[in-house]
Amino acid sequence: MTSPPKPPFEASGKLGQGNVRPAFPVLLDPDKGNPFAPKKIAVAARATSAGSQISLKRAFQPGASSGFGLDSAVRARMVRRLAEQGVVDVQVLAALGAVQRHHFVDTALANLAYEDTSLPIGFGQTISKPNVVARMLELLQEGLHDASGRLGRVLEIGTGCGYQAAVLSHLATEVYSMERLRGLHDKARENLRSLRLANVHLLFGDGIHGFAKGAPYAGIIAAAGGAAIPPAWTDQLAVGGRLVAPLQDASGAQALVVVDRTARGLRQTLLEAVHFVPLKSGVG
Ligand code: SAH
Repeated sequence: MTSPPKPPFEASGKLGQGNVRPAFPVLLDPDKGNPFAPKKIAVAARATSAGSQISLKRAFQPGASSGFGLDSAVRARMVRRLAEQGVVDVQVLAALGAVQRHHFVDTALANLAYEDTSLPIGFGQTISKPNVVARMLELLQEGLHDASGRLGRVLEIGTGCGYQAAVLSHLATEVYSMERLRGLHDKARENLRSLRLANVHLLFGDGIHGFAKGAPYAGIIAAAGGAAIPPAWTDQLAVGGRLVAPLQDASGAQALVVVDRTARGLRQTLLEAVHFVPLKSGVG
């Protein structure tokens, strides 16, 4: 890929939550006990509005979300672990609890779908670990709500298998998701078809240019990391909007970066180390 010139970022310190949460990725404790133990849930729910508590409760009830049968209990355990790891946004937890992750991976990997691990999705790409997805969505959500308490339009770069787009569909009014690999774009379309998520729009193309027709976005989230944030992304970000993406330094190491577009310009915050597939230009 080409390295676009750096936009005029205003440097800033750590984000509020980054100071008090454990660094990601976090090592999992082996699951010891009842996955529906109320104690930790109450901790996560305290910081929230009453409406959100109800949706969190629903997310933890076996069989109560979009999935049926045994997988919902396993999914609820995954959500509980995320809460234990420090994810406090109940809308994010509820969204993760509502999407069947196993539906997006090969049948042979389905038994690993609710473990905190990235998994291959074909074409040399991977679906991110649930705690990384949760972390990025939580960062995106912070302070971005419209009057209805929902995220507005969101652009996702790197549809992959479509999992994160499905989770986002529960948080945002509209989700535009771009993928540069035709095979994965088609796979995501297939995976999402039966879910009938009317607010998810899958786009085949090079996400480095963003998707101007859907702009401005309340949020932009990238699942692939390059050496710079493409200027199209910050151009297409609404004032008051936020971008969350992996960013690679000169040594090739990646860190999560948050870029806020304020009335006074762009403010960039570098967070913890992450490991994403590379952001590539062109389509394949
Ligand atoms: N969010 C995805 C994760 C996919 S991995 C999921 O839930 O499955 C990252 C994806 O980014 C890969 O599919 C890769 O092909 C895609 N990607 C890399 N560079 C891209 C670009 N310039 N435009 C669009 N997609 C890109």
